[in-house]
Amino acid sequence: MSFKSLGLSEALIKAVNSQGYDNPTPIQEKAIPEILAQKDVLASAQTGTGKTAGFTLPMLQLLDQNKSLRNRPIRALVLTPTRELAAQVHQNVKDYSQFLDIKSTVIFGGVNQKSQVSKIKSGIDILIATPGRLLDLNNQGLLSLAKIEILVLDEADRMLDMGFLHDLKKIMALMPKKRQNLLFSATFSKEIKRLANEFMHSPVLVEATPENSTVDAIEQKVYRVARPKKTDLIIKLISEGNWSQVLVFTRTKHGANKLVKKMSAAGISSAAIHGNKSQAARTKSLSGFKNGNIRVLVATDIASRGLDIPLLPYVVNFEIPNISEDYVHRIGRTGRAGASGLAISLVSADETTFMKSIEKLTGNKIPVEILPGFEPDPNASTEPINPQRKGRRNTGKSRPSSKK
Ligand code: AMP
Repeated sequence: MSFKSLGLSEALIKAVNSQGYDNPTPIQEKAIPEILAQKDVLASAQTGTGKTAGFTLPMLQLLDQNKSLRNRPIRALVLTPTRELAAQVHQNVKDYSQFLDIKSTVIFGGVNQKSQVSKIKSGIDILIATPGRLLDLNNQGLLSLAKIEILVLDEADRMLDMGFLHDLKKIMALMPKKRQNLLFSATFSKEIKRLANEFMHSPVLVEATPENSTVDAIEQKVYRVARPKKTDLIIKLISEGNWSQVLVFTRTKHGANKLVKKMSAAGISSAAIHGNKSQAARTKSLSGFKNGNIRVLVATDIASRGLDIPLLPYVVNFEIPNISEDYVHRIGRTGRAGASGLAISLVSADETTFMKSIEKLTGNKIPVEILPGFEPDPNASTEPINPQRKGRRNTGKSRPSSKK
């Protein structure tokens, strides 16, 4: 299957070729013709499947076909849960629209609104936004969504997890009822289906390859280890393996900061990325990581969502998530769009229950290794502990259908 046979225009095919893509990914094959046919689409696709191009390419084509609106009111809105994802989607939109007369901009909180507002005032066709800043600027009368033709909810499940449902409903009320709706989500939970029922018109369902086959493509390994020895073990693995571009997951922001300090002390350049970091600090860490100045990025689950780092070779679970689906999201950072990767988990006695429910979810038995000097503590309790004392429950079960 080629991009041309999906019905995309020459200008879009030229842009896709300039990105070095030869063929569409499965989600692109399925979603692009449906979107071009102006249907509402409910798509299950994770980051790494090529979903962004899956909605961006046909959206650009539809907007380009109807150029009647000369003063460029906002005609398409892409909502994302995080600032990083918003910035990445905008970069994709710019890349794919390079040969078209289409203007776009991105808005998110945590930075001054002035330049965002002046871009909107200058006239744009596509707006990429996080819900909070969008409502904020709307309440100040600085933008209008009255001419929206296409709405995209990207990573809708994460938006609900982050408590954006109320904001989403407010935003929908600001748009014309007659519009095309596209919803992308890693999972189809009850909440996602309910949301889709409320605002979509007979949506076509499209699914990328099932989550487990993504997992199958990634080499996975578990190191059983005593909890206090995890830091020394990760430093040993990274230094002796000469690993670079390592994404490490911790369960708490505090844990992320602590690990960065220890790694930096051991001479491994690293940075933390989480909700307590300013937007400027996050952007700086991410670009340092991408250009190779920072070897290790330590992230919490929410902060990591939507990070687009192509060909990421290593993911380390410094702590095991108690929500099994988070494991799938985490290791999905490697092996992106066909490239291979290695996912390592450091498992202490109290995390064995979590690891078992992950294996149950993915249907994979992950090979276990124990390194001399880093043996697990035979006397440690296997009772799960939860460093985040409030909020999540640590039952070792997979994600409950209610909010996380
Ligand atoms: P996404 O799932 O949208 O985050 O995309 C994941 C990665 O796949 C990004 O780095 C894209 O640039 C890349 N990508 C998207 N479409 C294709 C394609 N058809 N062929 C190869 N890589 C692609």
